[in-house]
Amino acid sequence: MPPRIYLDYNATTPLHPELAATLTQSLPLYGNPASPYLEGRCAHDAIEEARDSVIRFLDAPSAEVIFTSCASESNNHILKSVLWEKWGFIPHLIVSSIEHSSVLAACRFLETTEKATVTYLPVTPMGQVTPQDVQTAIRPETILIFIMTANNEVGTLQPLLEISKIAKAHNLLLGTDAVQAIGKIPLSFQELNLDFLTFSGHKCYAPKGIGGIVMRKGLTITPLIHGGSQERKNRAGTQNTLGIIALGRALPLLNKEEKIRSPLIRSLSKKLSHGILNTVSETELNGHPTEKIVSTLNISFHGLSAESLVIALDMAGISVSTGSACSTGSIEPSYVLEAMNLPKKTRESALRFSLGLFTTEQEINQVLKLLPPLVSKLRKASR
Ligand code: PLP
Repeated sequence: MPPRIYLDYNATTPLHPELAATLTQSLPLYGNPASPYLEGRCAHDAIEEARDSVIRFLDAPSAEVIFTSCASESNNHILKSVLWEKWGFIPHLIVSSIEHSSVLAACRFLETTEKATVTYLPVTPMGQVTPQDVQTAIRPETILIFIMTANNEVGTLQPLLEISKIAKAHNLLLGTDAVQAIGKIPLSFQELNLDFLTFSGHKCYAPKGIGGIVMRKGLTITPLIHGGSQERKNRAGTQNTLGIIALGRALPLLNKEEKIRSPLIRSLSKKLSHGILNTVSETELNGHPTEKIVSTLNISFHGLSAESLVIALDMAGISVSTGSACSTGSIEPSYVLEAMNLPKKTRESALRFSLGLFTTEQEINQVLKLLPPLVSKLRKASR
């Protein structure tokens, strides 16, 4: 592949080179982690080490970790298994209207199978739910509040600590999809008083095919996949040992890298947004200006279709997206920007730039050089 400028870290991250070495060194751990002999025990121990790493990284001493294949599975697992419990009434669930599709689709499934009623909370034009709306949505049948930590399209952070206080005051279960926050902001499972948290390896420099759930100790959930007794009977199937090991090693690596790279990513992100907003006319930044993941920039280029700009940038060697990774390839209008009540012209022309550990100043300079003439050309052509 010719050299590319990759600015879609929210869709997926490249494998960290140190983890590539970890994977190679771990190849001898081929034993089935459920086998009683040495090869099995070694694989089992490596998995337990990774579990401890997740617990330490997320400050979750009174929780356990269930490894899954991805965050979509984790989200489905929590929502379905909690709601499938025998409640004796049709349980009610509160989510935001800008959750990832794996949450929204699972909720719609639960509604259509009459296993749940769901409130989809509105968000402000900056993409935040309000604690007041959470409070108002609570009903006698409410059992779970599930709100993402940070939004994947605009990077806006949700007021989780306040939501947590409301959830606990009403004795409700609380879960968060932390996929886009891990490694980008400090996160404490304990401080947030969470019951569930979901994460994904391929958003934090580990390979694809590994994700997980952090769950408060003492809670039980019905398996989504039935079979063997892996993952303490919570998820059947032979574990992805290599993926789990890489994930376990990725987290301390993120801690180390964050200290060095975080100020740099912040300044590169600022440079990119200021550069675009100041040199390209009719542009605007979507999302919350401060309560956000700094590496995520959602910018509208009025008068253009985001799709044409993604294609033109791709041809110029730059990878960005219109938002939701699951819609990439078939670019669909953003339900997130719609829920934020942004006008059609803002929604249709919105691009997401997401930076990461390997983004360089040279790359940002190159984008700032190529983008303005490209936008002018496309605007002229579309008139
Ligand atoms: N949740 C959020 C906020 C995401 O951004 C994504 C992926 O983009 C997911 C869940 C799903 O992650 P996975 O690809 O591991 O299923």
